[in-house]
Amino acid sequence: MSVFQHPDYDSHEKLVFHHDASSGLKAIIAIHNTNLGCALGGCRMWPYASDDEAITDVLRLSRGMTYKAAITGLNLGGGKAVIIGDPLRDKTPQRLKAMGRLVESLHGEYVTAEDVGIGEQDVAMMSTETRYATGFEHVAGVSGDPSPYTAYGVFRGIEQAARFQLGWDTLAGIRVAIQGVGKVGYELARLLSAAGARVYAADIFTDNLKKAVADLGVIPVLPEDILRQPAEVFSPCAMGAVINETGLRELAAPVVAGSANNQLSTAEDGQRLQAAGILYVPDYVINAGGLIDVYYQYFGADRQEVLRHIDEMAAKTLPEIFQRSKVTGAATSDVADELARSRFMGSTQAHTDAA
Ligand code: NAD
Repeated sequence: MSVFQHPDYDSHEKLVFHHDASSGLKAIIAIHNTNLGCALGGCRMWPYASDDEAITDVLRLSRGMTYKAAITGLNLGGGKAVIIGDPLRDKTPQRLKAMGRLVESLHGEYVTAEDVGIGEQDVAMMSTETRYATGFEHVAGVSGDPSPYTAYGVFRGIEQAARFQLGWDTLAGIRVAIQGVGKVGYELARLLSAAGARVYAADIFTDNLKKAVADLGVIPVLPEDILRQPAEVFSPCAMGAVINETGLRELAAPVVAGSANNQLSTAEDGQRLQAAGILYVPDYVINAGGLIDVYYQYFGADRQEVLRHIDEMAAKTLPEIFQRSKVTGAATSDVADELARSRFMGSTQAHTDAA
């Protein structure tokens, strides 16, 4: 299939395909939009079943980063990278360094960070070959992993959603079903448990689930049952497209609020959630904490500023989206898209007008 005809191609500025013969690296970088600034977005490593699956993922993820950056108010564009391969089997220092050289070859147009399958040590390895990497330990003993900030943002977003949708002013006693207790899901489960929530969790990687059960006392659920788990909040913290026709039929919770990118399989799924009276907290708004963190790290700001910025997103941006959706009847996902687009497209307009 031609890339320009691909259903997920959305006027992306650049798609770079790379094969490094000596290391065996196969990777794609997608730069969706740089109207507001350089494209900052994580690098994912995943055993994609086909090249087309990898292209679809990188097109969707990079587009999401443009919207996420725009809605945070940061002067950043959207981009993302994918490495085709199994992180448990195929990750080698040679491949990570080759990835670093690929990022460097774009001269800062794209800045990389971690994502699923790529941790902060991996980004540190890439950074031996590129200046354009963030989200790893720069100062000895200070982690650069943005996941705790992502989890914190999701936690604050769940508080807002519970208030708006359920009239709950506290998370004590609320039931939250988390899909995926990896870096973000585990930390979210910790914050929720500390707030007195009843946390249910599923993970296909049993070691991660066992750890969350042992450390935090979360209640384990089978992966195939997590959507239908009776709960006030379903929190997708694994992979994307979990809200699809089948998922919607199974979903038991009146709120969907989690960290996973691209939770909706299609835009219509946002409208279906709205029609069903389920409050969907747009993924790229609630999970922006990690991006905010790596942005501040990259430009050398104090992490206290990160928390202030995340709190502001939860306290102002989310209620604005919920309220606009309530008044207009538009899906929260469409309201968020409109807000984000007005910023990054407005900026194109500004350039055009000035020209
Ligand atoms: P991770 O790889 O550490 O954790 C993901 C977990 O989900 C793993 O434990 C995995 O086994 C599990 N999983 C995968 N498929 C599953 C399924 N079908 N059912 C149940 N569990 C499943 O990744 P992470 O960094 O925690 O990120 C989680 C999600 O949040 C991803 O979609 C990521 O893109 C998104 N996200 C992460 C950050 C961040 O700061 N790490 C920021 C923004 C968005």
